[in-house]
Amino acid sequence: MADADVRIPTELLPKDGRFNSGPSKVRPATVEALAATGRSYLGTSHRRTGVRSTVARVREGLRDLFSLPDGYEVLLGNGGSSLFWDAATFGLIDDRSQHLVFGEFSAKFAQAAAAAPHLAEPEVIETEPGTHPTLRYSAEVDVYAATHNETSTGVVMPIERPAGATGRQLVVVDGTSAAGGVRVDPTQFDAYYFAPQKCFAGDGGLWLALCSPAAIERIATIGVSDRWTPAILSLPIALENSRLDQTYNTPALATIFMLADQVDWMLGLGGLDAVAARCDASAAILYGWADAHPLARPFVAAPAERSPVTGTIDFDDSVDAAWLAASLRANGIVDTEPYRKLGRNQLRIAMFPAIDPEDVAAVTRCVDFLLDAR
Ligand SMILES: *Cc1c(COP(=O)(O)O)cnc(C)c1O
Repeated sequence: MADADVRIPTELLPKDGRFNSGPSKVRPATVEALAATGRSYLGTSHRRTGVRSTVARVREGLRDLFSLPDGYEVLLGNGGSSLFWDAATFGLIDDRSQHLVFGEFSAKFAQAAAAAPHLAEPEVIETEPGTHPTLRYSAEVDVYAATHNETSTGVVMPIERPAGATGRQLVVVDGTSAAGGVRVDPTQFDAYYFAPQKCFAGDGGLWLALCSPAAIERIATIGVSDRWTPAILSLPIALENSRLDQTYNTPALATIFMLADQVDWMLGLGGLDAVAARCDASAAILYGWADAHPLARPFVAAPAERSPVTGTIDFDDSVDAAWLAASLRANGIVDTEPYRKLGRNQLRIAMFPAIDPEDVAAVTRCVDFLLDAR
């Protein structure tokens, strides 16, 4: 049982075996398109037209993809979503924030705000992994922080302003693993931030934030206050550079290219609704299979809270899920292990837009094969 030496018949295998929840499967066509730029893109200045026009393509493409209302702006900078948490503690939270905590990622922004010496103790609303809490009006806070998809547990939550929230209270959403794969109404957020290595099938290292006029105003107001901010975390500096289609310091050019290519691909599929429908199709296959299986079940009990992009499947105690993951890996199906700190007898299977729903179906057939072969 410890040996992961079962050979799965080739005809059962997915066409592409990458199911990681980030960095996620990059479409081969994207890599080919990058290679095809030859000497015209990589190794050229990020302050000149070749790279800046690619950044412009990203900013315009995201505006289209998310149907951003007038006045919303696309900001970007280096450092990924983790950096944005720290940037937000300097540039978006004025005094006090409220955080929904329901897994590893949502906890991190709350910890950053709690640790910031210039901010008041945040309000934290926490629920058990596998569920999500809900934003609650509080007169005390100027930022509500939610996470659209908690990647560590596979829980998705609807993004809605809390009833009674005032125009001076910003809704700041970690959309890192949801953005581009889950529908969202931009009028319900002020800042929706993410990185390209999940639904956008690119590489890490960059953060992007879709910001409402209220968020832009908050950035500007704090920017002229006497709060000290390290330049690399400064949202006013990021805003100024983003408006010029560039980043404050040198970005990874390949990351930007892959992101632009994926945004174009998503728009070509028909936009966010069409892309989300593709993830929904994958999720229906995965959860439908697990629901019907005597030895498996979706970890997230409430069907509406099951992520359409990162599926978590618990197994019966008679099944060693670590052996399943190792056996899948030995057959070229990689990174189905659960989030390490969750500690469950589980597989986690990414269903980002780049992943073919047919390949998700193939993984379920491979797991069935392994369960029979034990
Ligand atoms: C992956 C992830 C992050 C971290 O993103 P980095 O770009 O690696 O900093 C943050 N939040 C969520 C929800 C994630 O899935």
